[in-house]
Amino acid sequence: MYAYPFSYHRAKSLAEASQLLEQLGEDSRVIAGGQSLIPLMKMRLARPTALIDINFIPGLSEIKGHNGELCCGALARHTDLEMSDQVASIPILHDCAAGIADVQVRNQGTIGGSIAEADPSGDWGTVLLTLDTTVRCAGPRGERSIALDEFIKDAYTTVLGHDELVQEIVVKKPPKNSGGAYVAFKRSAPVYATASAAVQLTLDGKDGCKDVRIVLGCVGLMAMRAKQAEAELRGRIIDAQATQRAADAAREIAELQSDMRGSAEYKRALVAALVKKAIGIAARRARGERVESSHEYVGR
Ligand SMILES: Cc1cc2nc3c(=O)[nH]c(=O)nc-3n(C[C@H](O)[C@H](O)[C@H](O)COP(=O)(O)OP(=O)(O)OC[C@H]3O[C@@H](n4cnc5c(N)ncnc54)[C@H](O)[C@@H]3O)c2cc1C
Repeated sequence: MYAYPFSYHRAKSLAEASQLLEQLGEDSRVIAGGQSLIPLMKMRLARPTALIDINFIPGLSEIKGHNGELCCGALARHTDLEMSDQVASIPILHDCAAGIADVQVRNQGTIGGSIAEADPSGDWGTVLLTLDTTVRCAGPRGERSIALDEFIKDAYTTVLGHDELVQEIVVKKPPKNSGGAYVAFKRSAPVYATASAAVQLTLDGKDGCKDVRIVLGCVGLMAMRAKQAEAELRGRIIDAQATQRAADAAREIAELQSDMRGSAEYKRALVAALVKKAIGIAARRARGERVESSHEYVGR
């Protein structure tokens, strides 16, 4: 199917993009990688009357480390993030970037577009919530920085005003002795996960858990922090029993629906297995081990 007709506008700066959004009205939309918006337009589920292309705004793809923070420009493609040495220093981010869909989608899709879209099945939201993440936004009233857990309000809903744009995603680098892992279960590469688990922890000594965040993806209308699961690890030794208790606690909070990706019961078992695996990898990485990790695919 073809999209409804729309006008096309190329912005040369964030200020111009914001101005165009205001001038062209509520039915205008920003386009970045187009990997969410274009399919929706072709299915006529989205009908913007005007598209404002931000791909020609200089400097918006930059990935840089600065003052203990990793700053990713809104236009940084999933592939740019996968290949970045700066990103590799926070392995959970590399796990995420390298596993999104297939190479075509990763070459076009952007981190800013993913966060602005707030798709409950998207990988970035789940992963970035395990870290101290701030979204820098630009609009007619200037810039503002919003913590990610306040930025995403609901499925496909953020606090962004119509004339505001995501400029940068800022992640505070985790302290020493930290490690993280993101494991998603996918039926095939170019589909969203059936369920996913992101774990970021800091060790106290070799096995003690000083701090931890566990976030589950595709288990409800938004990525979900598994606080009871975290409590099973925080201040305790990370052994097989504690890991199992955390996995069981995560399984209990997931708000799962049966759908084409699997039954609720199947997904519940999956969530527990993914959390267990992610805790194991995160702890090994926190001890300084180099552990390769990738998503799980059906039949592999
Ligand atoms: C076949 C396929 C499989 C996929 N599988 C996965 C997957 O497994 N995991 C996953 O996480 N994602 C997946 N995606 C989505 C992909 O990651 C997209 O890149 C992402 O959702 C949106 O990024 P984009 O740059 O393409 O945004 P666009 O499609 O250009 O825009 C998406 C929305 O965000 C808005 N927007 C974009 N940039 C900005 C900005 N800087 N400021 C304000 N608003 C903005 C747009 O107006 C639009 O409403 C898949 C996509 C496809 C086509």
